[in-house]
Amino acid sequence: MSDRTKKLGKIDREYVWHPFTQMKEYEEQEPIVVEGGEGVYLYDTEGRKYIDGVSSLWVNIHGHKVPEIDNAIKNQIDKLGHSTLLGVTNPPAAELAKELIGICPPGLKKVFYSGDGASAVEVAIKMAFQYWQHKGKPDKAKFVYLENGYHGDTLGAVSVGGIELFHSTFKPLLFETYRAPSYYCYRCPLGKTYPSCEIACAKEVEKILEKHHEEICAVILEPYVQAAGGMIVAPEGYVKIVREYCHKYDVLMILDEVATGFGRTGKMFACEHDGVTPDIMVLGKGLTGGYLPLSATITTQKVYDAFLGEYEEFKTFFHGHSYAGNPISCAASLGNLEVFRKHNTLENLHVKIDYFEEELKEFEGLKHVGNVRNKGLMAGIELVEDKETKKPFPLERKIGWEVAENAMQHEVLIRPLGNVVVLMPPIGIPMEDLKKLLKVTYKAVKEATES
Ligand code: PMP
Repeated sequence: MSDRTKKLGKIDREYVWHPFTQMKEYEEQEPIVVEGGEGVYLYDTEGRKYIDGVSSLWVNIHGHKVPEIDNAIKNQIDKLGHSTLLGVTNPPAAELAKELIGICPPGLKKVFYSGDGASAVEVAIKMAFQYWQHKGKPDKAKFVYLENGYHGDTLGAVSVGGIELFHSTFKPLLFETYRAPSYYCYRCPLGKTYPSCEIACAKEVEKILEKHHEEICAVILEPYVQAAGGMIVAPEGYVKIVREYCHKYDVLMILDEVATGFGRTGKMFACEHDGVTPDIMVLGKGLTGGYLPLSATITTQKVYDAFLGEYEEFKTFFHGHSYAGNPISCAASLGNLEVFRKHNTLENLHVKIDYFEEELKEFEGLKHVGNVRNKGLMAGIELVEDKETKKPFPLERKIGWEVAENAMQHEVLIRPLGNVVVLMPPIGIPMEDLKKLLKVTYKAVKEATES
């Protein structure tokens, strides 16, 4: 290892507290120091390269060093770094909002910017809550969320989060909610089997709404894929059914497309698979192609109009972040959308998804692979100790990490979610790299679980 890498590792361990990381363990290791990227590859300070198998935590869309995005950022830097969006605007923020509305499901009309996914979820929660205040129904103040759902780490987002491991510590700080079962077919919380269940988990959402709709303001969920929950894939039609219940019981629907947006599932947005338009849609991560923090909470005219009034009525949405609509981030996002158009990214994706799905089937033959699921290029390979009984590996066995470490030896960077091996490459990944990603992961799983 070079002196430079050693030195960087040392300063890092001395000064940086890493997210979602047990620092006691981290301090005992030499970290990989990533300093470069090109296409689907990341480069470390030792000159090693790795396929970015989880898109740098699900943000990267077309790869690294994408000329259109690089140029958009460079051009913007020559003009303006930042100016506030409180009462004034800037060209990229205005232009991007127009473009986003152009690609969003029909009916979404207004873009509210913030920085991270969690902030945009907070915005959605507060907007939905305040909407009903203005509509003269202040009792509609509670949210329905799904078990295994994940919407970020700020307290509002954690209140509607359904992952015990991450969220239970903070319970005393959270607001009251209603929890509906997850659409987790492999381990159905209702003990049923798809398709004979007739998507009974959606029916559970209706039961809650039927009983409590007068005090419910919105249902929030991740359309099609509960990503952080373990890449859990919804049965076809689920989102549409819940949309209908929301209409029926006069409750807003918030769809969190932070992970699923921008082509990940094969369409620009996952809700398009079911032809659904939510009342509020949340975007983040891939919005800038994975370059800069930027998120957006996008609403219908109906939601927006409820906030209009005379100044002294104080119907204003009193919420905003300093870097909302940052021109450099918005320019990057415009570059991202330009790549989609110029390179027909979505059209070209189908071949990759077909290949990906076909190859993923191979994993099902492995002794300790209990379930393989995917939507588009988002996949979860759930490892189990016993395939017959679906008995999970104990978490302390860290089997997912063992797979990731094996993969790293063969130039592939992946990050598991507990016992679920996650693959979520940039959608711009070339075929030969997709092949390599699958081949290496297959070997890594086999080695970790069968030897
Ligand atoms: N929603 C979903 C569906 C997510 O997957 C995430 C992040 N993994 C978030 C919200 C939070 O986004 P951020 O990390 O940018 O705050």
